[in-house]
Amino acid sequence: MTVPFFELRGVKKHFRGKTTFAQRLLAAVGQASPPPVLRAVDGVDLSMTRGEVLGLVGESGCGKSTLARVATGILKPSDGDVTYNGRPAAQLKGKERLDFLLKVQMIFQDPYASLDPRMPVRRIVGEALSVHRLLPKNEIDAAVDKALTEVGLDLAYRNRYPHQFSGGQRQRIGIARALAVRPDFLVCDEPVSALDVSIQAQVINLFMDIRERYGLTYLFVSHDLGIVRHISDRVAIMYLGRIVEIGSAAAIFAEPAHPYSAALIQASPSAARRKRAFQPLKGELPSPLAPPSGCPFHPRCDHAMSVCREVRPTLTEIAPGHSAACHLHITENT
Ligand code: SF4
Repeated sequence: MTVPFFELRGVKKHFRGKTTFAQRLLAAVGQASPPPVLRAVDGVDLSMTRGEVLGLVGESGCGKSTLARVATGILKPSDGDVTYNGRPAAQLKGKERLDFLLKVQMIFQDPYASLDPRMPVRRIVGEALSVHRLLPKNEIDAAVDKALTEVGLDLAYRNRYPHQFSGGQRQRIGIARALAVRPDFLVCDEPVSALDVSIQAQVINLFMDIRERYGLTYLFVSHDLGIVRHISDRVAIMYLGRIVEIGSAAAIFAEPAHPYSAALIQASPSAARRKRAFQPLKGELPSPLAPPSGCPFHPRCDHAMSVCREVRPTLTEIAPGHSAACHLHITENT
């Protein structure tokens, strides 16, 4: 059996809510109810092969950025495993742990906030190489120049500071910093959503280009369905901390199986179908502190049945490589 390159198995990330003074007083006398738990990620299984691009889509607050941080090791899962080349990341120690952290790099949404404003670009890009002694000192400058050239930045800018660059150039610096340590896997969290549309296209092309050149694997988090469709081999749709549909980008965009995926696609304005009406998504994303019973999408779903209010549907394969968590399909296929 082939070992998946990268896998999340039953991954959960829960955060305990703040307790009020009254709740703490009640706790002191043994009368308090347990503090609220925010289930940002609530049992996600994902598996990726080397070289693929998996788009992760959902509304703001659905848990996709938290999942991205768990995948990179920035956040520890509350439960479940992150495995890299078949080894659970939590069991890696010392050099193996460092290798994992370097091979799995994150590209952040806000390029400005992710760059140290006091450092010139050459130090930002070369920092990991020098801190972790990945190269001899006298080779770091050349490696920095190579990374800057790969992302299309003029080497004359290497002594400039982040505030002297445009948004698109800052994102290129973030990509150069990640590339400098020769990663295998880039977790990109809304990497172009803060950029102008014209710059977005350039940065997306850069992502495609470096993927091709270095055989990189991407987990590409975005709420922009047009970009996800363009860049992804497969797409996972996330709702309230869980994956509700996963399949090839072609299958999901041609025939979404989950009503939430269909609603997201329908709600997405697109230049290609500008004359057709698009439907805004009904209602608001419920609070992950108190998710609805059964299928958490049922208060917003036009197809909700009585079973949907009581039983949570599990992710079920509906066609080879295409799964959805919806009673419409579970009923049909069982
Ligand atoms: Fe709608 Fe029911 Fe499917 Fe949930 S399980 S998406 S409520 S039809």
